[in-house]
Amino acid sequence: MGKGGMSHGDVKDGEEENMAAWLLGVNNLKIQPFKLPPLGPHDARIRMKAVGICRSDVHYLKEMRIADFVVKEPMVIGHECAGIIEEVGSEVKHLVPGDRVAIEPGIGCMRCDLCKEGRYNLCPEMKSFASPPVHGSLANQIVHPADVCFKLPDDVSLEEGAMCEPLSVGVHACRRANVGPETNVLVMGAGPIGLVTMLSARAFGSSRIVIVDVDDHRLSVAKQLGADKTVKVSTSLNDIPTEVEQIKKAMGGAIEISFDCVGFTKTMSTALSATSSGGKVCLVGLGHTEMTLPIAPAAIREVDVVGIFRYKNTWPLCIEFLRSGKIDVKPLITHRFGFSQKEVEEAFETSARGGTAIKVMFNL
Ligand SMILES: [Zn+2]
Ligand SMILES: [Zn+2]
Repeated sequence: MGKGGMSHGDVKDGEEENMAAWLLGVNNLKIQPFKLPPLGPHDARIRMKAVGICRSDVHYLKEMRIADFVVKEPMVIGHECAGIIEEVGSEVKHLVPGDRVAIEPGIGCMRCDLCKEGRYNLCPEMKSFASPPVHGSLANQIVHPADVCFKLPDDVSLEEGAMCEPLSVGVHACRRANVGPETNVLVMGAGPIGLVTMLSARAFGSSRIVIVDVDDHRLSVAKQLGADKTVKVSTSLNDIPTEVEQIKKAMGGAIEISFDCVGFTKTMSTALSATSSGGKVCLVGLGHTEMTLPIAPAAIREVDVVGIFRYKNTWPLCIEFLRSGKIDVKPLITHRFGFSQKEVEEAFETSARGGTAIKVMFNL
């Protein structure tokens, strides 16, 4: 990479200039210099090696906002990442330069009650990569708190390390819903998050998993990745009663936990109706903010509804699942790109198009 930008006084002779993918406006991503903050005593400076594109990144690129998170100023994008430690602060004991690490994007304040309870994902002061106004990690290098940089075992790749972020969503959902051995699980939606939720449920011991989608290709991928049964559905609300019967038949037993990884009125209605009495529905996907749902019929059957926000304390377990081979995320990585202006644009278009793309990954 050329040095460029000599006007940046912090670039010393012989040092490369740090570059990052900046979100400047709708459909406007540019690779530009990114000045790193000073390295604090508890920080690490990390050279990024693998960064995945998430639906949320694409959403920011197309709309400059997700719900109440609005991009008001140029922001570095990207949050699913792994890299190699370049430098650590004076107080960092568990990492040394050269260590390969998977990086958890977010940090709570660690002072509020939620943080103290361990539910730091709900901290009102939460700072997370590429949630405005916090910069993301699609950059040559970043500075990040070292306690959320997790060393990868030799046999877990940097790309797999980056996959710990989406996988964490599945792991956290399984914890919230209490998936255990012998749990029968229904997954609504076979997109990236549906797939990682399915893989997590299996790793938590689920004995039977049925996955539902509108798309044949996605369902065939889910089948290859280990779904016991797949059910193709329509987008019409009128079909819910027949589809619920099909789903129940496919499960062939009680549906104890359903994950809605789409979050549309239709998928949530289907999950509420299909879940057995005393079961649980976990809302993972956030397609619709407001929905009209058959909630009373579910309530009188004591079907619990739980939500999730991101994840907490999931990286060590994700890394262990990858190391032990209990979860293989490699088949989810369908496209790879380098870190040039042209490739960054192509990669985001590939991810936005969907189609056969599951996870689009940058190799830096
Ligand atoms: Zn993500
Ligand atoms: Zn807090």
